[in-house]
Formats: sequence, structure tokens, C-alpha cells
Amino acid sequence: MELLEALRAALGDTAVMSGNEIEPRHLGDWNVKVSPADGPIAVAYPRTTEQVAAVMRECHARGVGVVPQGGLTGLAGGATPNPGCIALSLSRMRVIEEIDPAASTITVQAGVTMQAIQEAADAAGLLFPLDIGSRGSCVIGGNVSTNAGGVRVLRYGMTRELVRGLEVVLADGTVLTMLNKMQKNNAGYDLKHLFIGAEGTLGVITRVVLRLFPKPANVCTAFLELPNYAAVLDFLGRVRANLGGTLSAFEVLWPEFYPYATTALGKPGPLPATRAMNVLIEAMGTDQSRDEAQFTALIETAMDAGLVSDAVIAQSGRQTQEIWDIRDSVAEFARVFGPAASFDISVPTSRMQEFVGIARAGLDRIDPGVPAMWFGHIADSNMHVNVSLRDGGPGLAAINAVVYGVVRDFGGSVSAEHGIGLLKKAYLGYSRTPEEMVVMRGLKAMFDPKGILNAGKIY
Ligand code: ZN
Repeated sequence: MELLEALRAALGDTAVMSGNEIEPRHLGDWNVKVSPADGPIAVAYPRTTEQVAAVMRECHARGVGVVPQGGLTGLAGGATPNPGCIALSLSRMRVIEEIDPAASTITVQAGVTMQAIQEAADAAGLLFPLDIGSRGSCVIGGNVSTNAGGVRVLRYGMTRELVRGLEVVLADGTVLTMLNKMQKNNAGYDLKHLFIGAEGTLGVITRVVLRLFPKPANVCTAFLELPNYAAVLDFLGRVRANLGGTLSAFEVLWPEFYPYATTALGKPGPLPATRAMNVLIEAMGTDQSRDEAQFTALIETAMDAGLVSDAVIAQSGRQTQEIWDIRDSVAEFARVFGPAASFDISVPTSRMQEFVGIARAGLDRIDPGVPAMWFGHIADSNMHVNVSLRDGGPGLAAINAVVYGVVRDFGGSVSAEHGIGLLKKAYLGYSRTPEEMVVMRGLKAMFDPKGILNAGKIY
């Protein structure tokens, strides 16, 4: 095929795989996969920005679709190939180019894993705070394209807040170099923000300048039991007031969560199982003795006030890991929970319990007693919900209608951090106005008039 010959000429024979050579992993992300018949005609593996630009130029000239792929750990189908497309894998663009201590930045190619960036920062005595469960496989280009969140957003922000500069290849092969390192730069529109969270529909991210932070000297972690959501909110207020800038995680698990994470999965668990709320709290500071005293006093005061009914403060690295294992057991839930509809929605923090009550009642109407799990980064207004897709149940569409319907009524977001991809397209209008959708489509038409770049994603 003439396009493949052109791509091989630009990238080299070993950088373009077609037919039976295509590895199955390129057929989808963690949630949305297609059959080989509906997959890409070839996967291209550029190593440089110039090669990405060449792939885009060749495909643009022929009107052939391109789907950018990173670590393929997404959950919404944003990197799932379209039939007959070229999958553009950034996985060979793995160079960490520079750490600049004075600017406190790191510059990397798009295919570097999150964990490799964390380790490079650590080796330089600095912190790259972005962290999610797939850290070893996900790559920064995908993290930026989906504006990934995670558990430390309340302190360091979403990926968007961590990006200082970007390099992007547009649909026609034009390279936009915006590798800014400076905190202050008000010279006209800050175009990089258009590509952050755009899920590869406006351009292909090839290089990123990221912010680094001072490395905390110590970490305090605790796992708590609280009687109800009102106590959780009261406690969050106290934590913010007393720990100030050191609070780095505040993860809330509704009562259904803990028995699955411990009894069902066979993990010991730091506390006895009850029908209460659990909170995982973490603070990262620079003064060990002062930070630990402050952390312990905060929890003791909350216990005296009746806000916290039981608590374990980690005394060792092993205990810290045991606490995080409870939260991270989400990745293993499929084993005991079975197939599930999973949601990453946002609703106002103050109304989350109300949201759970209304959504729970709605689910009971279509499938009485259906197992559902509620947990989230409530300080960021972000809640995750897993609802069992059990045999004989009403199915995904009916569950979506209930949960997203309540999100819409609450003025919330149908995607807090995973993106829209293919899975949530039908619900984008629940969280965006028709006027916003017109502007989004206008931007898409300007950046990609032929509609070749990740077509059919988001809207
Ligand atoms: Zn999350």
C-alpha cells in the first residue's frame, strides 16, 4: 500500500507494523477494545517530533485517519483505534531531555512513563507529584491529553496545573513548539491549554515541560473511621485549617467499600470492618517532628469531638503501604465484584451524600439491591462509582441513565478525570451547554478541517 511505503520511507521499516505484525494491545485501552478487523491498518512508532510530523503530513495528504496512542491505560476509549486508521504510538519517544533545577522543570518526550518521570525527579532531589495507579505503564503524553487527576490533586492540581510547556504536531504536520519553562508568560493566548485534556483530537503532543516541586522530607498517613458524611465534611474543614499546605491526600470510602477491599480480597486491613465511612489522609511536610505532632494532635482532637471513631496512624513504611493497598485495591475489584459500570463524576463536595442517596434510590428502582461502590477524592469534588453489571440486571445504558441523570440535575460533570473518549460521548451534553459544544466543534474544524485526528472521540 502506497501510504505504508511512504511511512516506512519516513520512519524506517521497523517503525511501521501492519497486518499480522500489529500487537493486540493497540486494539484498545483498558476499557474499550475493538476486533482486529475494526483495528488500524498499521501502527507507526516515530522516535522524533519530525517523524510524527511526517506521519501526519502523509496521512493528511491522503485523508487517512490517525489515532494517537500512549500507554493505552485510559478508561474511556480515547485511544481506541478507528477502523482503517493509522495508530500513532508514542511509545518509542522515551527520552528524558533535561532537568532544569533553577526553573524546577523537567522536559520529556511524550512516551516517557509517569513512573520514569517520578524517578528522574527523585534522583535530582525533586518531586513530580502526579500519581495514579497505572504509573508504570501510562505515559505523559496520554496523561496530558486526558488531563489526568489522581490522589494528590488537592495539593498539586490536575495535570494541567503541572504543564509549563508543550510541543504539539497538528493534523497537517505543522509543529507548534511551545516549550515554555517560565512561570510568567502572558504573551497572547496560552495555546497549550487547548491541547491539555483534548484527548488527541486537536493535535499530537510530542514533548512536555513539567513543573517539579521540593521533595517532602516526611509523610504522615492515617486510616480513619468516621460515623457519617457530615463528620467527614467537618473533619475535612479542620484538616484544611490545621495542616495547611501539607495535606496531600484525602480519600473517602463509603461503607460498602471496606468489606470488599479487606474480607473479599483477603487483605488484612488496618481497622476492624464496620458500616461506617473511612478516610485515608496523607500529609507531606518538611519538618518531621513538628509535622508528626501536628498530624497526631489533629486526629486526637477530632476523636475527642466525636468526628473520628477509630484511627490507625502508620508507624512504618509497611503500614503506610497497607493503608494505600486498601484504596488501591480498586484495581482488583473486578475479581470479587465482577463486571461493573464505572463512573468518575464530579458533584459539589457539600452535596455528595445527597448525590449518593438519590443515585442509590434510582439504582434500586431499576435493580433492587444492586451492589454499588462509592469512593472518591472528595476535596476535589470527584467521586468514583462502580455499579455491578450483574446477570439479569438492567444493563449499562440503564445504569448510565440513572447516574448521569443525577449528575446533570446536580450541575456536575460526567467526567472528572478520565475524559469522554467514546464511552461518555452521549452524555457530554449533560455537562456542557449547546453554546460550549458549538465552540468546541469550531476549534476542531479549525485545527483539523479534514477531521482525520482521533475522529469520533469526545463528541
Ligand atoms: Zn480517581
